Amino acid sequence: MSSSSPTSALKIAVIGSGPSAFYTSLDLLKTNNPQLEIDMFERNPCPFGLVRFGVAPDHPEVKTCQQRFKDTSEDERFKFFGNVNIGTDLKLQELVENYNIVVYAYGSGSENKLGIPGEDHPAVINSKDFVGWYNGDPAYKNLNVPLHKVKNVTIVGNGNVAIDIVRILLASPDSHWSKTDITSEALETLKKSTVENVCVSARRGFLDSKFTNKEFKELLEMEKEGIMFKGWSADHFQTFASKIKLGRIEKRRLQLAQKYSDGGQKVSGKSWELEYLQTPVEFIGDTSDPILLKETVFQQNSAIMNNDNKIEIVPTETLTCKKNELVILSIGYKGEPLQEFENLGIPFDSKRGKIPNIDGKIMREDGSFVTGAYCVGWIANGSTGNINSSVQSSAVVAATIMDDVEADGSLLDYKEGRNKIEQLLSERNIKNISWDDWLKIEQAEIKRGEAQGKIADKITDYEEMLDIAKRS
Ligand code: NAP
Repeated sequence: MSSSSPTSALKIAVIGSGPSAFYTSLDLLKTNNPQLEIDMFERNPCPFGLVRFGVAPDHPEVKTCQQRFKDTSEDERFKFFGNVNIGTDLKLQELVENYNIVVYAYGSGSENKLGIPGEDHPAVINSKDFVGWYNGDPAYKNLNVPLHKVKNVTIVGNGNVAIDIVRILLASPDSHWSKTDITSEALETLKKSTVENVCVSARRGFLDSKFTNKEFKELLEMEKEGIMFKGWSADHFQTFASKIKLGRIEKRRLQLAQKYSDGGQKVSGKSWELEYLQTPVEFIGDTSDPILLKETVFQQNSAIMNNDNKIEIVPTETLTCKKNELVILSIGYKGEPLQEFENLGIPFDSKRGKIPNIDGKIMREDGSFVTGAYCVGWIANGSTGNINSSVQSSAVVAATIMDDVEADGSLLDYKEGRNKIEQLLSERNIKNISWDDWLKIEQAEIKRGEAQGKIADKITDYEEMLDIAKRS
């Protein structure tokens, strides 16, 4: 028999503190259930995940969602536990035992790989590391990017992360970046940068570009700042329209490229280009400088129309070499299972790097659901979608949770929740960061930023964050 009653408390643990974790919490708190308790666990001393460590510093408007997340923290039913690593500081089993529901919202922690020779060369950098470095993720603060030695950078993959990186590499550190919250270290490195050209390379064709038109247009418009798109000749554009019927988004993308193309002329100053239908097969190091590449070998691909009238990409025998001293792999991210998943019977799709689920409800291979286990965000859907799209998907997951709680009384069985967890942390002498602690760190960052004329100067050292949190 279930030990629940209509007034039983619903105790929820959320692992992760990025946008999906917060939007799901916000939606759950909207239910006005006074018996609800949401505890959010974050391994970093600071919250916000991708909003803090992923969004480009020149897109502060995207980060305004942090204000909404602060509203969550003001709700007494919500508690933030920063600097708590699930798996080491607390076992996942302890969360499963002490909460009615566990929401997995810890994102995609590792990156896709190409699996080709030279991928481990120091001049082949993953976008995750690079983005984390300029956004102040302490894990990447020592990434020494030798931009002062580089003229040509190739970015493999053409999603919006690649577009962000083009802006980072080419926009002026003084007029474009200096007032943003880009880290001081990254700003200094950009000031010494000798990068002149960035090539964004993709395995498929222009119409399959992964970047969105908004981000494409923003970058094209940076010609006002002297950042030129190399573009193509008029003949090149003829090849598109004749082949397939274009949708609205594709037409717009083509119009934008046409408008800003310089006819394939050589441009002076800083420039960027888009290259298509090529797959990297080897990165070749520079024998005279071990931290640089000499070139990248690409296999050329061909786009053919298959029997279903769909475009198919097939490799050809042709190999080409592109001179570039640095490559940034921007080919998407992959989630990893938590250590205890197997023991606790929580499934994981290793191929896709995500937790199998329906509307957030974690589903085993046999189609049954894991009771009280939900996932949201990139760990649920793969590394796709921006902050706005997480609003909608989080609302779906929150609604699924509330529907299940209503349908299954056993989900309200008594659990110890927060009291037990605080006791465990105290016994283990783990100094978790509360929301007030975090506000102290945030204030220190704003103050440091003010002194430099920046929105904020992010602290990139865990110990320093913990020291600030300890101050009264
Ligand atoms: P993405 O949009 O999925 O793009 C990944 C790119 O990598 C694609 O061009 C893909 O090519 C390529 N790729 C993957 N595997 C490859 C392989 N083995 N060999 C060669 N190329 C490969 O990922 P992302 O740029 O990391 O962005 C992640 C999500 O964050 C996206 O939804 C993005 O829109 C979002 N985001 C949004 C913003 C914004 O709104 N401003 C900013 C940053 C990120 P194929 O297309 O051929 O698979």
